[in-house]
Amino acid sequence: MKFYSTNNKDLRVSFQDAVFHSLPQDRGLYMPEVIPQLAPLFIRNIQQYSLQEIALTVASALIGDDIPKSDLKSIIADAINFDAPVKFLDSETAVLELFHGPSYAFKDFGARFMSRVMGYFSKKGDGLLDVLVATSGDTGGAVALGFLGVEGTRVTILYPKGKVSKVQEEQLTTNGQNIRAVEVEGTFDDCQALVKQAFGDAELNAVLRLTSANSINIARLIPQTFYYFWAYAQLKAQGVDDVVFSVPSGNFGNIGAGLLAYRMGLPVKHFVAGTNVNDTVPRFLKSGSYDPKPSIQTLANAMDVGDPSNWVRIKDLFQGNLDELRYVISSYTYTDEETQVAMKELFEKYSYVACPHTAIGYLAGQAYRKDHPGAYASVFLSTAHPCKFPDAIDKAIFANVEQPKGASDLSNKPKVATAASIDFEEFKSYLLNWK
Ligand SMILES: *Cc1c(COP(=O)(O)O)cnc(C)c1O
Repeated sequence: MKFYSTNNKDLRVSFQDAVFHSLPQDRGLYMPEVIPQLAPLFIRNIQQYSLQEIALTVASALIGDDIPKSDLKSIIADAINFDAPVKFLDSETAVLELFHGPSYAFKDFGARFMSRVMGYFSKKGDGLLDVLVATSGDTGGAVALGFLGVEGTRVTILYPKGKVSKVQEEQLTTNGQNIRAVEVEGTFDDCQALVKQAFGDAELNAVLRLTSANSINIARLIPQTFYYFWAYAQLKAQGVDDVVFSVPSGNFGNIGAGLLAYRMGLPVKHFVAGTNVNDTVPRFLKSGSYDPKPSIQTLANAMDVGDPSNWVRIKDLFQGNLDELRYVISSYTYTDEETQVAMKELFEKYSYVACPHTAIGYLAGQAYRKDHPGAYASVFLSTAHPCKFPDAIDKAIFANVEQPKGASDLSNKPKVATAASIDFEEFKSYLLNWK
């Protein structure tokens, strides 16, 4: 399979190039040159397959010969080694839990698959791969734990001091091995600026093999399609055929993967995007004009995105046809107050503790049902375990959160992070001196 840039369909690169470069030079995003169609028989019998079997079929359709099927099978077995269960809360509402991986967020799917693909392509003696990543919380943990122990790679994670939660910080700073954390006296934007400057620095690039673990990497998008197929398989096994997915959205990578799955033949009735007050996409679907704004801080902070970078992929999947987009996607937007009410409702009605992002998925699914009553399963995606967001959840509700064992174990490990300023020369010499 070749991958083109959404800005120039004549620019086509191999899967390996798309993975290592993340972004085409023309600032578009990579997309497969054709959307492969899965066999109708596979879809019809999908409930017979495991998550890993489904993942292999979907990934090999998207990647083609660039990774032989037997190698892809090992990559998947190693990367997707946790479940994504669908749980019904009532007869028509279910939650797809995507937080059973090591960092307790759905980003584990993308980060673990990408790390292993990068490791796979790196083996041929071309030196250590230096992965740089800036994080506001969830991405860093998924990338750190995703690359932990992956041969031929090492990772530097920059995070803003005092601006990530306890569990998030522990996931960044307790790893050792090929992972190190830099605690920056500044904001997430400062962290990102340092990483960007490093990529543009000729001297650094002459000595180090730098790559980004950016969320727009095609190797992070592909594995996110797996769980849409898997959710559908679980529903089908229970005799449910009609499904609407409701996806809490920030950068629109998660829902973008769902729409890619739809284009490949997954029979989904409709997709619903729930956002916090960063409502660029809901406004676009209403007005038809795309008008990004600076991001606003909210309780669902992993969705504080004013200009969702994956939106161009979604436009590309629908050739920019607004009517078709509106036929497949609806979008609703929520304030922090509404999000808090939803977390309370989920707990009181279903004894379910949700993180704020997940609560927005729930709200959007409910809103869509109100506008479109009918017989279908409304499945909202739970993007993170609530233990990662203690400050965003009411104390009385948070008291009911069961800490996963892995999370409590982290508290006993020593924190190792290098304190850094926002000075680029300091960061550069730090990178050059890692032996
Ligand atoms: C990253 C993240 C999101 C947003 O996902 P996108 O793919 O950026 O839309 C939602 N919830 C949580 C918990 C996240 O970490």
